[in-house]
Amino acid sequence: MAKPYWVFSDFDGTITLDDNQVKLLDQFGEADWREKEAAILAAGGKSRQYLPVVYHNFRAKSSREIIEYLRANVRPDPFFPRFVRYCDEQDVPLEIVSDGLHIYIDDYLEREKLQNLVYYSNTVEIGPDGLVFTHPYANQDCGKCGTCKKQIISARQAQNWFVVYIGDGISDECAAEVADLVYAKGSLARYCRQHGINYVPYRTYADVLQHFAQLLTGKSGS
Ligand SMILES: [Mg+2]
Ligand SMILES: [Zn+2]
Repeated sequence: MAKPYWVFSDFDGTITLDDNQVKLLDQFGEADWREKEAAILAAGGKSRQYLPVVYHNFRAKSSREIIEYLRANVRPDPFFPRFVRYCDEQDVPLEIVSDGLHIYIDDYLEREKLQNLVYYSNTVEIGPDGLVFTHPYANQDCGKCGTCKKQIISARQAQNWFVVYIGDGISDECAAEVADLVYAKGSLARYCRQHGINYVPYRTYADVLQHFAQLLTGKSGS
């Protein structure tokens, strides 16, 4: 029997068309946050290392300020809720794995009435000198990801699930290396091409839904 599907989706730039963190840092971060992040990435670090640095001296002082700014400046993918419904109808588990902030994921899920969706992300508190992070889904062996997506995926594969992954950026690279099927756009698509990882290109969740529905139909018919 074919393995059952388990779907994981990135949040920033994937469920929302814009990247919430980029929007927040451009608005409330220090002017040189990109340089600081690039230097840490170049030195082999990842989000565990750069998140506290780029959110130091962050100027938004409440969750409300963060949420109001993002509501006005970030476009959700209008087709994601339809994809959620489809997976639900097909009894395919779908969860969100994010290296972003729980604040705006909670707000999005509430607005879209998708509060039942499980998500894994970093947790933040707003301190006087910027955001203070905790990483409930970090992995000691990795040490580099705030949320270690690879670890979350591998755990499902060990339970014999066929893992489908949808993403767009740097935080999805390790995930794409281990997932059984990858949908990629943006820098993740470039990364997959450079590293010989097979992927299905997409622009929005309308494309993902169309392709995935064909896959499910094909499998059940064979
Ligand atoms: Mg992303
Ligand atoms: Zn990791």
